[in-house]
Amino acid sequence: MKRHNKLMIAASLSAAAAHSLAAKAPLADMESFHQSLLTIDTHVDIPSNYATLLVDPAKKQLHQVDLVKMQQGGLDAAFFIVFVAQQPRNNWNYEQTKAKARHLFKAIHRMVDNNSDKIALARTAKDVRDIHKAGKKVALIGIENGYAIGKDLSLLEDYFKLGARYMTLTHYGHNDLGDSSNPSRQLQDQANEHGGLSNLGKAAISEMNRLGMMVDVSHTAKSTMMQAVALSRAPVIASHSGVKSVNPHARNLDDEQLRAIRRNGGVAQIVAVDEFLLNQPDEMWTTIGKIRREVGMEGYKDIPFLPAELYLQYHQRIEQEVRSKWPAVNIQDYVDHIDHAVKIAGIEHIGIASDFGGGGGVKGWNAADESQNVTTELLRRGYSKRDIAKLWGENTLRVMEEAEKVAAQTQHLLLTR
Ligand SMILES: [Zn+2]
Repeated sequence: MKRHNKLMIAASLSAAAAHSLAAKAPLADMESFHQSLLTIDTHVDIPSNYATLLVDPAKKQLHQVDLVKMQQGGLDAAFFIVFVAQQPRNNWNYEQTKAKARHLFKAIHRMVDNNSDKIALARTAKDVRDIHKAGKKVALIGIENGYAIGKDLSLLEDYFKLGARYMTLTHYGHNDLGDSSNPSRQLQDQANEHGGLSNLGKAAISEMNRLGMMVDVSHTAKSTMMQAVALSRAPVIASHSGVKSVNPHARNLDDEQLRAIRRNGGVAQIVAVDEFLLNQPDEMWTTIGKIRREVGMEGYKDIPFLPAELYLQYHQRIEQEVRSKWPAVNIQDYVDHIDHAVKIAGIEHIGIASDFGGGGGVKGWNAADESQNVTTELLRRGYSKRDIAKLWGENTLRVMEEAEKVAAQTQHLLLTR
């Protein structure tokens, strides 16, 4: 009920605001302002068959991000993600995981190679700006889950050479680098395995600093995160997180963490995952779980793999059986998290992430072609154009540049020693 009222108020507010905004800034102005920005989404998951005939990013298809939707929504750049799920830690799984990671690197390279007239891979912040200026979309690469290196620190340099410019230290479940915000019951994790970072995790951060790979603290336990912030010689990012003060979810950052990111010079990119943004009743999740089981899918990460028929069937049933009772989390709910994060960490330290393909998407920003709506909502709330440029990309590029500087200094020191 409360939720319903909130939505109604938000709807009438936004209608009124949209009206007054429309009076002040015609749609064409809004569009040209959005087009003038360098927009970066710091977290986009892809299936491993991305950039094959089955999932061709050059054509508009079911996946929330493709080159057509990026063009339509004025989304200039995205970190495409090499994601590996946490598994029991043994040599067999380390090898399998390494292969899976390489498979995803290949998918991203394939997208770029097959569409070189439309998109290019950026290895530096300067690359991002140059590619953007040349009128192409920008692909960046992030690794999600330090489990991708197992216990082998030398893989960091291999992955860096393949283009990875950040690595999320953990995912769901602890790994060899540190503790996760969500210990895995299935993997029989203790609440606290390493008390934050392991020694290997500390060494990984030092190696990432040497290479110029950004340290990503999303998905990590608070202990891991605070230690990483203290240890890293370059500013860190939280590539896709919400804020706990607005919704106390385990995946969100509390105010102390936001202040730590501010002091560190880093950026927390606020994520559009409904589950993190707003607390929803258990009954809704039970219903969604039932539909997923009946449709034959397990977890959000599987959505891109679903055959089109099942995908449509799933969405139809969600609309009929879920959205009729529990309205979708919307873009206002999303920007509420940005507002709070900016209040605590400052405008220089917040960014934007969708987690499309990995469970992200809210009403109003449910695919890359709706990215302009984020700009509209930020303007509506009184953010200046300069501030919006910082949120959409400048802050992330600054941290990337800092990471590059730290790497250059380290390599200089090593050479002159
Ligand atoms: Zn994630």
